[in-house]
Amino acid sequence: MTDTHCHLDYLEPSELAAALEAAQGFEAMLSIGTEPAKSRRNLEIAHSAPNVWVAVGIHPTEAARWRELRQESLELARHQRVRAIGESGLDFYWAPQSRQAQYQALDWQAELAAELDLPLVLHVRSAKEDDQAEREVAEWLKHNRPPKVVLHAFGGHPALVEAGLEVGAYFSFAGPFTYKKNTLVREAARQLPLERLLVETDTPFLPPEPHRGKRNQPAYVRHTLEKLAEVRGLSAAEMERITDANARGCFAFA
Ligand SMILES: [Zn+2]
Repeated sequence: MTDTHCHLDYLEPSELAAALEAAQGFEAMLSIGTEPAKSRRNLEIAHSAPNVWVAVGIHPTEAARWRELRQESLELARHQRVRAIGESGLDFYWAPQSRQAQYQALDWQAELAAELDLPLVLHVRSAKEDDQAEREVAEWLKHNRPPKVVLHAFGGHPALVEAGLEVGAYFSFAGPFTYKKNTLVREAARQLPLERLLVETDTPFLPPEPHRGKRNQPAYVRHTLEKLAEVRGLSAAEMERITDANARGCFAFA
């Protein structure tokens, strides 16, 4: 089992110990730092947990200060436990005012990922009333064609399906994939190539059914995996084999 996107640095020490214990049999967890201090903490966690790997990046909500975070991010990105750059992307829900900085931080992280031959992890969130971020990231993907890219907590937007397929992106499903009303994302999952599918938790956020309302943890990725298997008409064991292999291919865990 693999959780390709979690934020272990957000967990309290006792919570972290329990979460790592519950995920002891996992092949890998990728813990994402939203800024350098958090990436540093994730590297510390990875130091004592052999199945934890790290992504170093500047989250779009931190992008306003990307220039001051750049040097430290660059140094951390070269650490041997780092397997991805991000999460980067566009967030017009929490940070509509830093739009220009978000694009600059995104372009910079895309360049860094290509240079280090690491996948780029993208976060996409629009303001409540529209789908501007999805449409703009779709355009950005077609224009920039990053060699290895992951659409994290994928929501199923048709423009992103199209652009993602065009550039060979990985589509990573999180807890909301299991929510009853989210028919769009399950519809999208039906038509995507099996070799592009990943599962994640975004711990401690986005808990899947039946853990809604609680703090998430990597072990809960199983619920999303089971739902994905059901949607594709496969057994959970078969889907686990597929998504583990995809994660290995994308992030080179080992
Ligand atoms: Zn995240």
